[in-house]
Amino acid sequence: VAKEQGDGLYHFYDSLIENQREENMRLENELKNALLEEQFKLYYQPKIDAITGEIIGAEALIRWLHPEHGMVSPAKFIPLAENSGVILDIDEWVLEEACRQNRSWQLQGMPHFPVAVNISARHFYQSNLIPTITRILEETGLEPRYLLLEITEGTLIKNVEYGVRMMEDLRAMGIHISMDDFGTGYSSLSQLDRLPISEMKLDRSFIQGITQDSRKSSIVRAVIELGHHMDLRIVAEGIESPEELKYLTKLECDQLQGYLFSKPLPEPKFTRFVLEWDSTTINAVQSSQINT
Ligand code: C2E
Ligand code: MG
Ligand code: MG
Ligand code: MG
Repeated sequence: VAKEQGDGLYHFYDSLIENQREENMRLENELKNALLEEQFKLYYQPKIDAITGEIIGAEALIRWLHPEHGMVSPAKFIPLAENSGVILDIDEWVLEEACRQNRSWQLQGMPHFPVAVNISARHFYQSNLIPTITRILEETGLEPRYLLLEITEGTLIKNVEYGVRMMEDLRAMGIHISMDDFGTGYSSLSQLDRLPISEMKLDRSFIQGITQDSRKSSIVRAVIELGHHMDLRIVAEGIESPEELKYLTKLECDQLQGYLFSKPLPEPKFTRFVLEWDSTTINAVQSSQINT
């Protein structure tokens, strides 16, 4: 009987996986049309300077408004897009849209800051990345220093030599690079030293519960110290509570990002958020009497 039950369960899971696979295949095909049908939209999440409290950047995050399923998370469709190669077109669309938007904010008189764009590993190894970016900057009129590329540690696994050279070429153009999700992937400390990066973004998994978890806080403290020795800025992503904000400020984290300040916002909500932002609010939290 036990075996039969086991078999039943096996078939049950088997069909679940089969359904999942079919759905993924369907989404993968639909992704190809989504660009043409203009179903993608960029949202922007502010990055805040831990000392001045000012908004000093925005991360562009893609959203897919699927005609039947509603909003599909990038965590779900970006991996599918990477499988099928559509990611190259998606990343290019994101780059274009983010640069155009940032230039338009500047022309509207908003404070100038870099827009951060996530670049998939697959795109990073494309020989036309630099010509594509050059063309987009020219067409949109955005200066290279107002574009920041976020790449994950895992990106370098494939070919460190090539990756480092690509980064150096981008740096030579005046574009800054951020190491995203730091601490979750391949992080050879000996390589870190060679990378021409400007910042490290601590993954949200290290921030969540940092005030109660002494192991997490020691890791974060060590990473911040290491980063500062290497003249890198440290950005904390996924800050959700005043306690986390206060704690990270104490550890001298340089920039802050998370739902505590704002979720990623579509235009024109993001513009309104920037114009209404009061940089003194975070100082009030930072100096408040919260026990951490
Ligand atoms: P990521 O680059 O590490 O982006 C941070 C993710 O954390 C975003 O999820 C953001 O909405 C979320 N987040 C920010 N603050 C908080 C917080 O306080 N709490 C919580 N729970 N979450 C927070 P999102 O937008 O769903 O994106 C997921 C991942 O998908 C991104 O991780 C990135 O790897 C990828 N992605 C997003 N947009 C793009 C894109 O335009 N191109 C590429 N290639 N990848 C993208
Ligand atoms: Mg990112
Ligand atoms: Mg990240
Ligand atoms: Mg992350």
